[in-house]
Amino acid sequence: MNTILQQLHLVHDRIAAAATACERHPDEIQLLAVSKTKPVADLLSAYQAGQRQFGENYVQEAIDKIQALKSDCPDICWHLIGPLQSNKTRQVAEAFDWVQSVDRLKIAERLSAQRPGNMRPLNICLQVNISKEANKSGLLPEDVAALAAKIDSLPGICLRGLMAIPEATDDSDKLTTQLLELRQLFDRMAEKYPDLDTLSMGMSNDLELAVACGSTLVRVGTAIFGSRNS
Ligand SMILES: *Cc1c(COP(=O)(O)O)cnc(C)c1O
Repeated sequence: MNTILQQLHLVHDRIAAAATACERHPDEIQLLAVSKTKPVADLLSAYQAGQRQFGENYVQEAIDKIQALKSDCPDICWHLIGPLQSNKTRQVAEAFDWVQSVDRLKIAERLSAQRPGNMRPLNICLQVNISKEANKSGLLPEDVAALAAKIDSLPGICLRGLMAIPEATDDSDKLTTQLLELRQLFDRMAEKYPDLDTLSMGMSNDLELAVACGSTLVRVGTAIFGSRNS
């Protein structure tokens, strides 16, 4: 019995049901498997079950996994979804396909400058602090347009979308309001930036709501790999 295989099926079923319920096509929503703290063997199980997009939060842990899986799983698409300090941008620019947690010009500039010339531009999402909580990473919604305009011309990166980690709340009306605000911001930005196709929101507990609010990529950890105790 392969639990990760079964859990992946369940998550795909949830995505499909959520999409159908709001008359979207399930193929419009991609699944990012969030594998932080999980061993390489778990990622390999997910890979063997067909999963290709993986999200990691910690740079060193991620680089080790990327190295370990390089030869057996050459077509994994790696996303950094955790905070990025400027002293780690070079490693990230050299190893990842996506960085979803960009919220400052300096980080974007460094990633662009440090992206190797023989690789495709690094895909990035701007992380938006939709709940406007203090001490939370991400740009305020009102600052997104200005940062996007500044990074648009950077050659080593490609602005692909917006990402948010919503407030931990049981108030689904509040959550819906915040997710829909991000969706509206995304729609406005997409008119201006044709490469913008990724609205990254929704996790294990709220993926149905996120899909209903327009998510194109859900980031799911616990529901695939089980709870994290480390
Ligand atoms: C850990 C994490 C997730 C996955 O959360 P689960 O609740 O385990 O599905 C998604 N996004 C980000 C940014 C995370 O850090």
